[in-house]
Amino acid sequence: MKKFFILFAILFCGAVEMSAQGKFNERPKLVVGIVVDQMRWDYLSIYYDKFGKDGFRRLLDQGYSFDNCLIDYVPTVTAIGHTSVYTGTTPAFHGICGNNFLVDGKIVYCCEDKSVKPVGSDNQKDGAMSPVNLLATTIGDQLRLHTDFRSKVIGVSYKDRAAILPAGHSANAAYWLDKKNRQFITSTYYMQELPQWVKDYNKELVKHNGFKEVGENVGLYPMAGQITADMAIAALTGERLGQGNETDMLCVSFSQTDVIGHKWGTRGQHTDEAYLELDKDLARLFKALDEKVGKGNYLAFLTADHGAAHNNHYMMDHKMGAGEWHSADIRSGLEKHIASTLGNTKNVVKGIIDYRFFLDHKEIEKQGLDLQRVKAVAIDYLRQCPHISFVVDFEQAAMAPIPPVIRHRILMGYNFRRSGDIIVCPEPGYYEVGQWSSPVGTTHGEWNPYDAHIPLLFYGWKVPHGSASQEVHITDIAPTVCSLLRIQQPNACIGGSLRFD
Ligand SMILES: [Zn+2]
Repeated sequence: MKKFFILFAILFCGAVEMSAQGKFNERPKLVVGIVVDQMRWDYLSIYYDKFGKDGFRRLLDQGYSFDNCLIDYVPTVTAIGHTSVYTGTTPAFHGICGNNFLVDGKIVYCCEDKSVKPVGSDNQKDGAMSPVNLLATTIGDQLRLHTDFRSKVIGVSYKDRAAILPAGHSANAAYWLDKKNRQFITSTYYMQELPQWVKDYNKELVKHNGFKEVGENVGLYPMAGQITADMAIAALTGERLGQGNETDMLCVSFSQTDVIGHKWGTRGQHTDEAYLELDKDLARLFKALDEKVGKGNYLAFLTADHGAAHNNHYMMDHKMGAGEWHSADIRSGLEKHIASTLGNTKNVVKGIIDYRFFLDHKEIEKQGLDLQRVKAVAIDYLRQCPHISFVVDFEQAAMAPIPPVIRHRILMGYNFRRSGDIIVCPEPGYYEVGQWSSPVGTTHGEWNPYDAHIPLLFYGWKVPHGSASQEVHITDIAPTVCSLLRIQQPNACIGGSLRFD
């Protein structure tokens, strides 16, 4: 009897150990990352009563919401946001310093790569793209490393940067929309020929009557979200994502919300429609995930790359401080001021992008000027410009006499090779307006809550229902997902793993 008991105890302990081991390495079949471009956190509550039960509300009512997720760097723009979500780090480390930034002395587009060619199109301008400028790994890269590249990782979006940067370096594919030819395309960075399922979906897109009507302006309509969701569902089926032995990852970014916001602003019929239609697209995507991967077998998260300010006229109409910041005027005023102070200089400002001033170091040297002197004169001028809270020399940012919370965000966003020389923070409610701006539209890029407070929802595999109000950051998303997957964090991750309490 005693022997029997010992044998039983050994077997029992063995079974416990085995199931514990099994548990440690349990993973969802699929991770689905969803980024909604320009989605302010407060849209969740503004539209809650109008949302259906199966889209955003599935995440809110059954998943977990971090109600105070902030972006802890500046500038708050698309390419940086998408990259920071998936790398768990900021421009100081991942090097994606804007939609456009400085590489080897030239201002380049974040994903441009002249060494690759479009696949699925001859549109060199829209197709020669890759993650070549990204300096850090993503969640997807880590997943691929962990499984000896057996996991599949795919990025899908209307915008190239919103498909490429989330998916990472070792992704199996990233697909984005060639609006002119009404086709999802990729580049030779990933493959030489589109898979059959993409070709099949593209055949449908060419016949899409709504798309034909609006042409290259498709991003201004909720239809672009339907097309993106359908592409994500086509990827799910075509690649059998979440149906193999290893965890796969699908990164889906909805970008029409940003295009619509820039044109029509944060409030009103167009933005209402954009979010209520997107809600239906999400419901369709979740239904497909339930059917193909199984409810509870996938882990989903939803967040945004940045928010947006309320339109400045709208704010002023309601007696709140707001206004416009014209970088073109400031640039010409700045050139004149430098010329009158230092004598006969010209073209010393290479560009102003997202409230950052890129001085032309080559020109400055050619004209026999001292860079530090030019910078000091420029800062003096900018300090006299109205409606600017802070002017900061990036190189002196650590000692700048400004509130630590802003200093921190400036430093986190600063990559000394790529970010330029000087950054300004406009007063609250003031934002950049140019010839391209719509008078009723909006933009983003600043540290303020309207641009920096984003939704963060988790849903599905091992995610309880609940919410948390403590401040968390965009950089916490990647380590949280990696912790749930029990894989190493991306290689420049600085965020912390969040608990669902
Ligand atoms: Zn935008």
